[in-house]
Amino acid sequence: MIGQSPVLAGPDAAGGTLLEARGLTKHFPVGGTRFGGHGVVHAVDDISLSLPAGRITAIVGESGSGKSTLAKLLARLIRPTSGTLALDGRAIRARARAGRGYARRVQLVLQDPFASLNPIHDVRYHLVRPLKLHGIPGSAERGQHRSGALDQAVADLLGRVSLTPPDVFAAKYPHELSGGQRQRVAIARALAVEPAILLADEPVSMLDVSIRLGVLNLLGDLREREGLAIVYVTHDIASARYLADTIAVMYAGRIVETGPAAVVTDQPAHPYTQLLLSAAPDPDRGQPVTLRGRGAPPNLVTPPPGCRFHPRCPHAMLICSQAVPPMAHTGAGHASACWLHDAGLSAAQRAPLTVAAVRSTRSAPPSGAAAPQPPPPHPDDAAEPGKEA
Ligand code: SF4
Repeated sequence: MIGQSPVLAGPDAAGGTLLEARGLTKHFPVGGTRFGGHGVVHAVDDISLSLPAGRITAIVGESGSGKSTLAKLLARLIRPTSGTLALDGRAIRARARAGRGYARRVQLVLQDPFASLNPIHDVRYHLVRPLKLHGIPGSAERGQHRSGALDQAVADLLGRVSLTPPDVFAAKYPHELSGGQRQRVAIARALAVEPAILLADEPVSMLDVSIRLGVLNLLGDLREREGLAIVYVTHDIASARYLADTIAVMYAGRIVETGPAAVVTDQPAHPYTQLLLSAAPDPDRGQPVTLRGRGAPPNLVTPPPGCRFHPRCPHAMLICSQAVPPMAHTGAGHASACWLHDAGLSAAQRAPLTVAAVRSTRSAPPSGAAAPQPPPPHPDDAAEPGKEA
């Protein structure tokens, strides 16, 4: 179940929900510009989702869409401004400090495998440390017995991420590993505490293209073999289609479309998803997507009113600049937050929004803050019928 509000039950619900978020919101205060003034960055706004066991949910969006902030909120590395989390059906107090119990169930794998491993320690050290910290059976024993138990646990972990022979890899230092092998060590470290949920934040974006597939397949294997609920955060909708069961598309801090991966990528209902797909050609896609995007992502200190995509959307109507579109079901388990799905709009609400009108509807900057500069006119603006240059 994913969206600004509970909108989807879908086939995923059958797996049993492990982690549930309701209305997660994160606003980062900013201020102290040399012109004075303060404001907040609306990084994540009112996101609800459910993560069932044995399913991969991809959070897809361009840089600055809030997808990594959402992953950190789910990992409880940062505290939400509002919203709630429930793990295994038990509510978590939003402002409470994250304890080891939560960290043991929900593990985060970071984007950069070069920075996430300590260069002065070998692989064995990186895997033994979480075992000791979380008191995994065997790690608390003493002497030779303890060392043997830890060696066996390290060998098991390396085997689970296909780094074999384990004794060879356990003795290596990060600089002796390729990027893909480092990311596998990072995943093994996350697996050391036997989590139920793995949050993978752009896990392959810093790897060579030739080794990305191996890491994606490893995540798929962990879903199948170990029944993990996996969140795959990415800007690459093509890899999300390859790996994920469900895709949630984020734009400017909000989820704008969600549904089964094949449906979202074959029949995108939201203009932003169509824009993302147009940037990721897929030879298997039946219908070519022809939408061309305009402009750049918005300033999240002063996000556009209504639909945050309206300054870039070639279908923008008057209502789009005035009210946030609700999630509308467009098929089995498929939903999109777009006014185009509302057949009950009046003719005035459906009036096309010109580029000049888009600029005039931008919200005023907070008191004393410098006004954000509008993006330069896009060449498409002049060429598109019905739009003013
Ligand atoms: Fe475009 Fe309006 Fe739909 Fe937003 S709500 S995507 S501006 S048509």
